[in-house]
Amino acid sequence: MHHTQSNLIEIQKKIKNKIKDLSLSNSNPNIIAVSKTFTEEDIIPLLDYGHNDFGENKVQEAKKKWIQLKSNFKNVKLHMLGKLQTNKVKHAVEIFDYIHSLDNLKLANKLADEIKKKNKDIKIFIQVNLGGEKQKSGIEPTEILSFYNSCRSLDLNIVGTMCIPPDNQDPKFFFKKLSVLNQKLNLAEVSMGMTNDYLDAIEYNATFLRIGSGIFGKRTS
Ligand SMILES: *Cc1c(COP(=O)(O)O)cnc(C)c1O
Repeated sequence: MHHTQSNLIEIQKKIKNKIKDLSLSNSNPNIIAVSKTFTEEDIIPLLDYGHNDFGENKVQEAKKKWIQLKSNFKNVKLHMLGKLQTNKVKHAVEIFDYIHSLDNLKLANKLADEIKKKNKDIKIFIQVNLGGEKQKSGIEPTEILSFYNSCRSLDLNIVGTMCIPPDNQDPKFFFKKLSVLNQKLNLAEVSMGMTNDYLDAIEYNATFLRIGSGIFGKRTS
């Protein structure tokens, strides 16, 4: 068995046990296998195993790998996780099924235009900057309601919210905050939890876990 397959199976087991321990009977989070920097050689075994959700953080890299892979594996859903520049939106809309990193109005407008033009159904998460970190992307929590309403008036299909908690702080504090915020907006999906904290994220109702190194191994670039 390929190491990416056995890693995924191990993670699925841990998730199942966590859900059992917490008696979260309604919880069934999706695992996004974050394949950024990894090649087809590591990705194809997971596709063969039947895994369908994959994440990338760069538009060019995603197109290079996934145009071919998606034509061979029709059930794949590709998730854009990284910062999206408006000048890349045209390409992003061609290859991605989900975008987790909507963080400004200019981008929202551009996405709305391209999605309409290409008649796509792309599911979108609003990225929230919960740590108040100047260098990090995301909408401030105090702005989230008005931003969400602007997105709705653009007819964007906003399915949930996403966060990347600050380093070196307890992620649970931020997972809880995002979960509360998401409920206030009455949205179904919550994108949070990575290799080091996905089990914590489950506790706060994460529905999409973004797991890279835990599945593919350490990234060298
Ligand atoms: C790379 C990345 C991940 C995966 O990180 P790991 O720690 O390798 O699991 C998750 N989310 C985003 C936004 C990323 O860029």
